[in-house]
Amino acid sequence: MNSPSGFRQHLLLTLNFTKKYDEIEPKHSLRQPPTAGFRIIENQLCFLAPRCISIPKMNYIADLHIHSPYSRATSKNSDLAGLYGWAKLKGINVVGTGDFTHPAWFATLKRELEPAEPGLFKLKNETAVPSPLADVPLPQGPVRFLLSAEVSCIYKRGGKVRKVHNLLYVPDFDSAERVNRALGTIGNIISDGRPILGLDSRNLLEILLENAPQGFLVPAHIWTPWFSIFGSRSGFDSVEECFADLTPHIFALETGLSSDPDMNRLITGLDRYALISNSDCHSPSKLGREANLFDCGFDYFSMWDAIRANSHDNFKGTVEFFPEEGKYHADGHLDCTVCLHPAESKELNNLCPACGKPLTIGVLNRVMELADRSEPLFADNSPEVFSLIPLPEILGELAGTGSGSKKVLREYSKILGTFGSEFELLLNLPIECIAESNSLLSEAVRRVRAGEVFRQPGYDGRFGVIKAFEQGELKKLVCNS
Ligand SMILES: [Zn+2]
Ligand SMILES: [Zn+2]
Repeated sequence: MNSPSGFRQHLLLTLNFTKKYDEIEPKHSLRQPPTAGFRIIENQLCFLAPRCISIPKMNYIADLHIHSPYSRATSKNSDLAGLYGWAKLKGINVVGTGDFTHPAWFATLKRELEPAEPGLFKLKNETAVPSPLADVPLPQGPVRFLLSAEVSCIYKRGGKVRKVHNLLYVPDFDSAERVNRALGTIGNIISDGRPILGLDSRNLLEILLENAPQGFLVPAHIWTPWFSIFGSRSGFDSVEECFADLTPHIFALETGLSSDPDMNRLITGLDRYALISNSDCHSPSKLGREANLFDCGFDYFSMWDAIRANSHDNFKGTVEFFPEEGKYHADGHLDCTVCLHPAESKELNNLCPACGKPLTIGVLNRVMELADRSEPLFADNSPEVFSLIPLPEILGELAGTGSGSKKVLREYSKILGTFGSEFELLLNLPIECIAESNSLLSEAVRRVRAGEVFRQPGYDGRFGVIKAFEQGELKKLVCNS
């Protein structure tokens, strides 16, 4: 995708950008994660874990944004055993715990997890966890947990109300405990696993840096209209505007389900940020609908380094929804069943043609508003992008039912029993191997991998629909086979 002139342009823009950054005097000078050793934090002597550089490189998949049963509208099955079992079936090796700010969930984490690799934790009784699918044995491969949380910051800045979701990551329980103590003095962290605090995003980052020097913050699902850093109804126009003097501590952004790296790389101002992808799942069976692929040491610090460096040598890539599938991709009104492309919305002055009220402006529109390129521009060593449809949705299309039907569940179990994990099938398995047992599935997976899919965009909170086959095509194929 890079033309030589495009790459020069990229370098030039990056240089300009760096200059701008150097003009900012950061109050906290933690540009690099601090090394191991003792430190005074909150008047107490604290030990910072060693950054283990001797851990061998390994290929693994991480989903770093999920919610516990203590978050609103989350499945009871999102307990640690449920997350562990589903992570195994999906082929995920590192799962964010979600919600470490919630006292009851935090107590559960402390009780049920034990330290494994640096900054990662394992379930104490993992061998006793049953498979979530009765007939399918759990595939091989480790599953570790990483302490994560999401905070909804609602505050006024520049005369506007801002609502920004931010993800927090820390490598140890002591750091999490200090962060929780600090946040507990600001607002209610008990009523919701994802607490809503009247706290400026910049100040949340400051609290994290002060209490967890080895922690990092990633703005969550950055384009969601109502709750994100760039949201059309909630956010800012740049990372600098949001995090001010602490901006240099932000090195990654979560793209969310409704946008993908192609869209984000239309914006020069985002060039220096790694783009990570996570499921944000509220039910463990939805784990990994977006995820990150690493080829680096299997520990918190190596992952941190890989994301910061943002090179495909260690941060291999992301698994993405086709962005049209996200529930805020296009503009529209759900109640009026009006779904519009940004160009159509513009002609209508962003007003709904059915009810006359302002449209919910989606992610594509907002990206186009901030874009300063007509083509995405990627650095040569950028992590790769793998756009996928979750396997149950592919099976639902083949079965002519919803993705949650009994027929799909039976087929899903059968396929995992045959091929191993879901990611193994979707990402790695040769098409010929799949074809030996299921020719339609193999053709569907081939098309998904090649991006040859049919897309109906999501809008105003409704998920879009992505199909591997054209309307009526599947029937013909079945008749001919
Ligand atoms: Zn969120
Ligand atoms: Zn309307």
